[in-house]
Amino acid sequence: MQIDTQQNELIMQVAKLEQGDPLVSEAGLQRLEKHFERGLRFAHVMMSINQYEGREGTAYAQALAKVLVSKGLVEQEELDTMMAQVRQEIEAQPTPKVMLSKCDNKYQCQSTVILDCASRLHICKARCCTLDFYLSDQDLDEGIVHWEYGRPYWIRKETDGYCAHCEPGTWRCQIHSNRPYVCRIYDCRNDKRIWRDFEKMIPNTEDLTPGID
Ligand code: SF4
Ligand code: SF4
Repeated sequence: MQIDTQQNELIMQVAKLEQGDPLVSEAGLQRLEKHFERGLRFAHVMMSINQYEGREGTAYAQALAKVLVSKGLVEQEELDTMMAQVRQEIEAQPTPKVMLSKCDNKYQCQSTVILDCASRLHICKARCCTLDFYLSDQDLDEGIVHWEYGRPYWIRKETDGYCAHCEPGTWRCQIHSNRPYVCRIYDCRNDKRIWRDFEKMIPNTEDLTPGID
């Protein structure tokens, strides 16, 4: 399970801290705490929304049923039978999921795009690494690529809008060999968010995406 992987990561970090592991820094702990808090907030907000919507739906359905029964338009028994049937239909529906990318094995990806990024970085400033995307099961199982705890399972961003794995200043991907599937197949050449003219190296300087100056 993906959530188990992240939980295990947190548990390991906490265990290392308790053992006084010098590799776990104070800054690392603060980051962990911040992301954990955001995750809890996300869970609490979603819980409140679900609770509110659930109550509204129940109130509406019960009110409607009472009106129909009181007017003799529906028999209580008929209503109970129909409820059981609808319940079964709902249970058979797929549960809505958080966002996950479809990719069986990113390492066997056939359409990897190779661009001469090194000669363009001073102009594009790796704007591609400010774009939003979500991770795959494989990324989560590996536990290398970080996801936003407040927005499962999107790539984690820093406050400057860049991916958490993009090295500030050099714009190097710090997890290049393990980077997600999307990063392997993404092609910026015709992406107007990045380039006005790719061949002439004219970037789009409009602030279409956060984190670009
Ligand atoms: S925007 Fe394009 S050229 Fe620049 S780093 Fe990203 S993929 Fe490479
Ligand atoms: S994982 Fe690497 S290539 Fe992908 S967005 Fe982050 S820094 Fe960029």
